[in-house]
Amino acid sequence: MPELPEVETTLRGIKPHIIGRKISEVTVRNRNLRWPVSRKVYSLAGSKFIHIKRRGKYILIEVDDGTLLIHLGMSGSLRVIDCGQEFRKHDHIDIKMDSRKSLRYHDPRRFGCMLFHSGNINNHKLLRHLGPEPLEEEFCGEYLYSKSRGRNVPIKQFIMNSNTVVGVGNIYACEALFFSRISPKRFASKISKVRYDNLAENIKMVLLSSINMGGTTLRDFVNGVGEPGYFKQSLMVYGCEDKKCNNCGKAISRIIQTGRSTFYCSRCQR
Ligand SMILES: [Zn+2]
Repeated sequence: MPELPEVETTLRGIKPHIIGRKISEVTVRNRNLRWPVSRKVYSLAGSKFIHIKRRGKYILIEVDDGTLLIHLGMSGSLRVIDCGQEFRKHDHIDIKMDSRKSLRYHDPRRFGCMLFHSGNINNHKLLRHLGPEPLEEEFCGEYLYSKSRGRNVPIKQFIMNSNTVVGVGNIYACEALFFSRISPKRFASKISKVRYDNLAENIKMVLLSSINMGGTTLRDFVNGVGEPGYFKQSLMVYGCEDKKCNNCGKAISRIIQTGRSTFYCSRCQR
């Protein structure tokens, strides 16, 4: 599933190829994504791609009279390809540009979306309740500490809640908690300010190292014909059940929390 680092890498990959380009033709082959593709997308021809940014795992592309709101769902990808390339199975949307390149949306499981919003995009109902961006300065230990007072939920659930902070998926939550030596089961309300300082830094660190690794696969997002290259990161705990902890040698545990696997070291993480 595309996580924040893959979404950021996608954005960086397509940005230089689309900004300032005029849209010449739009083909929607299947509008039945998670929500139906906005009708306005069909009539984008003549409009220009003005600006692109990310909010959580949403890609927001500003055009002349509004903003495209794109989510890659479970299996989506966005690529810039030469115009006229044959459609592959699951290529649902093709946006031709005046550069003879196309922006193409591919999504086998169709859990993603492409919506159009004409007002202030920050007020869109999918965005307005989102917490801060993890890589921005406002996301820090102080913020987590004050937000967590009175929250009797396990810390892992707390940091994966997009209301707390956006884009901390299961892998990154497990890894950041390991580096912070915090048990994923500990209640958010019971964690000290100092430990939250450390946790906020580690969340930034695991996300950034994944984004930096993605830099080497940028090419795949632009010209490739395969699936986007998700990062084969070296992981300390995620997916490492029964392997020895790098820190103490004890076997890594796996438990289920709110339906998701949690990996951690029960000796190092308290
Ligand atoms: Zn350990």
